[in-house]
Amino acid sequence: MTFEAVSKPGAELTRFTYDALPGRVVFGAGAARDVLAEQLERLGVDRVLLVATEQGEALARELGRPLGDRVVAVFTGVRPHVPVEVADTARAMATDAGATGVLSVGGGSTTGTAKAVALTTGLPIVAVPTTYAGSEVTPVWGMTEADRKTTGVDPIVQPRTVVYDPELTLTLPPAMSAVSGLNAMAHSVEAFWAAGRNPVTSAIAERSIRALADALPAVLADPKDLPARSEALLGAWLAGAAFAVAGSGLHHKICHVLGGAYDLPHAETHAIVLPHVLSFNAPAVPDAAARIAGALGRADAVTGLAELSTALGVPEGLRAVGLPEEALDEATDLVVEKAPPDNPRPAERDAVATLLRAAWAGPVPRA
Ligand code: NAD
Repeated sequence: MTFEAVSKPGAELTRFTYDALPGRVVFGAGAARDVLAEQLERLGVDRVLLVATEQGEALARELGRPLGDRVVAVFTGVRPHVPVEVADTARAMATDAGATGVLSVGGGSTTGTAKAVALTTGLPIVAVPTTYAGSEVTPVWGMTEADRKTTGVDPIVQPRTVVYDPELTLTLPPAMSAVSGLNAMAHSVEAFWAAGRNPVTSAIAERSIRALADALPAVLADPKDLPARSEALLGAWLAGAAFAVAGSGLHHKICHVLGGAYDLPHAETHAIVLPHVLSFNAPAVPDAAARIAGALGRADAVTGLAELSTALGVPEGLRAVGLPEEALDEATDLVVEKAPPDNPRPAERDAVATLLRAAWAGPVPRA
């Protein structure tokens, strides 16, 4: 007998399959300066391809210094959404240098480039994230070819070890911290109704929302506040971990469609769209909404997220990040095509059109 998930859309499951994902996490201020050599050695990696953005190269080289000549190549051609030519160049560099592992230092685009290398070479990754994207704890890869983003799931791309060092996030600008933190929050909120949800992912998501809601305003008030940075990074890890198992739902499908078709910025798009999807789904998932509200420390999830988003200075409406109004009709069709059939509320065309127009125009919805 297959033991299928049984429940109403969006409700807590009482029968489920839970696949725990592998991977070691080393967490703590200063960890990236202390543990990389031993963590790579533990995986048998003696020839390292270091991956970073041009902007992040200096930091990556600094962290790689204790590895000495074990760093055999440095790839700094990272681009958003991993263009396939970038992946090919990084893969060729790994092969030519005889790399036995990849060390990525950076945000989701950098982790994504390391994953593209692992996908074809099978090389193990040690990831050192510097944003709140969460990609480092998922087996999901993404690549872009001719403006079309393809994603897939393969356990080979999931980093074997993740080193979370909040000191590395102190330089993340406040505006990017806010939207990246809400990108993480989106993983956790959606984990309450995505198809692979279960009591474990809900518990992790709840803790993650609490961490992010507490920490992000403090990070904005003082970007160098290390305890707040540490709590935000913990929230980001837990968000990625919940998303990795629960999977994506309507919110992630909308952001994927908008990002791919109109080249919108990833974290900002998530931050703007999330309150609208929560507002749409919340009436159909009262238990989840109550847990999200509790984790936000507010009486109501929708109003609570709206207040947080406003306090963090998130742009109100997708028009502020470059989505033209004329695109809304086509975007609606694309979203309806991809919308999960088991979304707590049916994502029919009229409903999606209303949601997208509201997300385009702003303001952020309140209950
Ligand atoms: P990003 O990696 O593109 O980084 C954004 C910018 O911030 C870059 O200019 C980068 O150099 C800079 N930056 C990063 N860390 C910094 C720091 N500590 N200080 C100063 N500047 C810093 O953006 P992102 O939001 O982290 O990642 C987005 C990408 O990740 C998207 O392509 C998305 O699809 C992918 N993603 C994948 C998954 C998955 O599971 N596969 C999950 C989440 C996101």
